Amino acid sequence: MHMKTRSPDTIAAIATPFGEGAISVIRTSGPEAISIVETVFRGNLPLSTARGYSIRHGWIVSSADRTVDEVLASVFRSPHSYTGEDSIEISCHGGMLVTKCVLETIIAAGARQADPGEFTKRAFLNGKMDLAQAEAVCDLIQAGSERALRNSTVQLQGLLGEQLQLLKRELIEVCTLLELQLDFSEEDIPAASVQVLEKRMLACRARIDTMIASFGVGKMARDGVSVAIVGRPNAGKSSLFNRLLMEGRAIVSHIPGTTRDFLEESISINGVRFKLIDTAGLRESGDGIEAAGVALTRNIMKSADIILLVLDGTSRSKSIEEQTILSSTFDAGAKRIVALNKIDLCEVIDGTPDDYVRISAMTGQGVAELKENISKLLGRASQDTELVICSGRQFGLLKKCLGSLDNAIGSLLSGMTGEFVSLDVRSAIEFLSEVTGDITTDDILESIFSNFCIGK
Ligand code: GDP
Repeated sequence: MHMKTRSPDTIAAIATPFGEGAISVIRTSGPEAISIVETVFRGNLPLSTARGYSIRHGWIVSSADRTVDEVLASVFRSPHSYTGEDSIEISCHGGMLVTKCVLETIIAAGARQADPGEFTKRAFLNGKMDLAQAEAVCDLIQAGSERALRNSTVQLQGLLGEQLQLLKRELIEVCTLLELQLDFSEEDIPAASVQVLEKRMLACRARIDTMIASFGVGKMARDGVSVAIVGRPNAGKSSLFNRLLMEGRAIVSHIPGTTRDFLEESISINGVRFKLIDTAGLRESGDGIEAAGVALTRNIMKSADIILLVLDGTSRSKSIEEQTILSSTFDAGAKRIVALNKIDLCEVIDGTPDDYVRISAMTGQGVAELKENISKLLGRASQDTELVICSGRQFGLLKKCLGSLDNAIGSLLSGMTGEFVSLDVRSAIEFLSEVTGDITTDDILESIFSNFCIGK
């Protein structure tokens, strides 16, 4: 269980992005939020008289009695606020300096600068949301595609938490039945009960399995789907890369913190973010393939979700190199799509497989169809899905839960005692509780909330 060791202090942070804008918002939350802001706020009425969900007009004044800015103060009273605590949101003019001065004034009056994600952490600790919802807040803010946004919105509504609570209830009942056996006899569980219990556990297993299976889709939506563009030199990889970019640059075009020896840009196809990787720069040497470049291309191909092989439609002979690339795309086990390029220059040769998409990176012909085919490769990911697991943490815990459940089913079928079987069911329940944060530790919270921005 998480522990509330000491009563929380009052925190403050700028909640809007750093830069110039019409307004900025400075958030303050904690038991002293209203009294601290009141000391630096000059309005017609003292802030302490303001009801929850009300807005007061006034001025922020520093300790030296210097007017900092004209502001609006939105007042939230516990428990009816984002954090569940008393909170105030000051809307001031959106200059960088003035925003900073308002924050500094509030901190000088007794608030503490908030850590990243600390407002949401408090919301979790105060029972305003479960841990899966808190993670969804972070994903929602960072969503770089419509699909990722939709997934995090569904999670934010608490659907995962609800489904897990139902599962937990069912497993607790199973535990009770298993443990009841102890009272009746010292013997093994009667055969009829074994069947019933097995059926109930298998039903839970199937539901967890479905959630686990959705992770691939969720992860792709969140992180983007990587598409490695490979092919012989001069096949037209860079031209295609540029053509695709021209037609669909995504909102998030850079993934921070990665250094690359290749070009990577994001585009959006049907609301999903695709990360295009142009491997063309890897081997510019005119005479054949440079070994290091090939090794790198292979690595990229191994980790890519989709491999887009570009063939030069004008080159009639299938070179050994092309064959090599083709076969290694099969090796990698990734989804594969072949674009036959430069069709503006040539007739399509007889015997060209039907699933090759005929394109011209130069004129743009066939590129829309190529994009559709790329999108179709994702199958379920490109359709509307209800609940998808997006976080690696949730995925890992659900896998562990499944493992425990499998152990329990195994023990049940091999005739172990109810007490023994229920140990594994109980551990399965605990893993589910960790997903929603019913059971958690400071370390887990730290690792989740440190990914947040300050002020959230
Ligand atoms: P890469 O080495 O695979 O990246 O190939 P590039 O994109 O650099 O293209 C090689 C050459 O083919 C360049 O001169 C391009 O202008 C040309 N090219 C690429 N795609 C097409 C196309 O669809 N039609 C025509 N006519 N030329 C193309």
